Amino acid sequence: MIISKNPYTGEEISSHHELSDAEVEKAIKKAHSRFKSWRETSFAERSNLMIKAAKELKDNSREYAEAITNEMGKPITQAIAEVEKCAWVCEYYAENAESHLENEKIKTDAKNSYVKYEPLGVVLAVMPWNYPFWQVFRFAAPALMAGNVAILKHASNVMLSANNIQKIFERAGFPQDCFQNLVIGSKKVENIIRNKKVKAVTLTGSGGAGSSVASIAGEEIKKSVLELGGSNALVVFKDANIAESVKTCVMARFQNTGQSCIAGKRLLLHKDIAEDFLEEFTRQVRELKSGDPMDEETFIGVMAKESLAEDLEDQVKDSVKKGAKIILGGKRDGTYFEPTIITGAKEGMPVFDEETFGPVISVTEFKNAEEAIELVNSSSFGLGVSIFTEDEDFALKMVPRFEDGAVFLNELVKSDPRLPFGGTKISGYGRELSHHGIQEFTNRKTVYFNKY
Ligand code: NAP
Repeated sequence: MIISKNPYTGEEISSHHELSDAEVEKAIKKAHSRFKSWRETSFAERSNLMIKAAKELKDNSREYAEAITNEMGKPITQAIAEVEKCAWVCEYYAENAESHLENEKIKTDAKNSYVKYEPLGVVLAVMPWNYPFWQVFRFAAPALMAGNVAILKHASNVMLSANNIQKIFERAGFPQDCFQNLVIGSKKVENIIRNKKVKAVTLTGSGGAGSSVASIAGEEIKKSVLELGGSNALVVFKDANIAESVKTCVMARFQNTGQSCIAGKRLLLHKDIAEDFLEEFTRQVRELKSGDPMDEETFIGVMAKESLAEDLEDQVKDSVKKGAKIILGGKRDGTYFEPTIITGAKEGMPVFDEETFGPVISVTEFKNAEEAIELVNSSSFGLGVSIFTEDEDFALKMVPRFEDGAVFLNELVKSDPRLPFGGTKISGYGRELSHHGIQEFTNRKTVYFNKY
């Protein structure tokens, strides 16, 4: 049995029968068989269904959001926003998939030569609990629109949401088995990847899980996309608009109770403005309302699992032992972790070197742009970086110096259906969203017509 438990109340919400190997095999067979007809459908048919999925999400956003909040402790207003964002990605691909996958003509010696984007078949998605809807929809909407079929292995603590997602596609009218949720633990993932009918795998999650899944996919010579952890820096230069950048940095770190891959986890402040910035930042963080995630006023909920809160506590304690200083928060009570600010962070401390997956931000001062760039790039992660400055020319010159998958100016790093999303270094490879995302799970077939 796989159990969903409310991390705020500790109550068991639902239990789910784990599929046997034979049942998993049967599901894959059904998916493969559905692929044969689904790939023949037109973009117009697929769009029509995807628009209905968007409507289902919008019409019942509260119901789906409550399940999310109950399962992983996300404040309800943020859960509703997540469900609504899923409707957006469905609409985006309903409108744009056809043009994203149009044949790409290339002039050669041939009479006609072009690249044709064709679906791969059954794609496995291994997904995390932190955005239990968004992570799945940002994969599923493009994958289905491209003509693939999807099987989902969701995180074990959000199986109710996983079932809801399958229900949404069914209610929208997608043919049976286009999208199937497999209620399984992670031990069953290997056999699925090795199954001949499964053509590719995408994983959003931790480095350990990503490395394991990619190794197996590598042995099988199957395509994989990895969206892994991050330790984004928020870099505030001395000419930044302090009032606006403080607000943005608070959101960048503390939304979703800090449990976001692209959260700004390391705050890098120019020494000349560090004191003023930190004073206002601390004031605003202190005002964030913690409480019952179901309460609409709550901004900081609880962490999704007590073990994760304990890990975060260890990272904080270890960093303090190594010389960092807690200037706000720092305490844990079960799954609740106080919004925490830690100054004096540097290499060698967990809060600087590792991903902190909760409401904790580390602060480091820098003297000049060169030092800031070094601090950003010293991370093993490479999802994204936010820089705050009023000088656009300076910002433009900085862009190529960062090793990350994204650079945002005067804005928090966020995902948007119109823009590619993905990391470098141990944050993973491949891209989701935009035309880059939909093309990941396609065969870019080269077509060459000669005439004698
Ligand atoms: P996780 O423990 O790696 O779990 C993610 C998924 O992988 C779950 O479905 C999990 O199943 C499964 N899994 C775990 N170990 C596995 C293995 N050895 N083989 C196959 N599957 C395995 O990560 P999480 O705690 O749920 O999520 C947090 C992490 O995800 C953070 O590091 C975060 O930064 C990252 N993340 C990245 C992005 C991005 O876009 N880059 C977005 C969101 C989150 P079980 O639950 O059954 O163990």
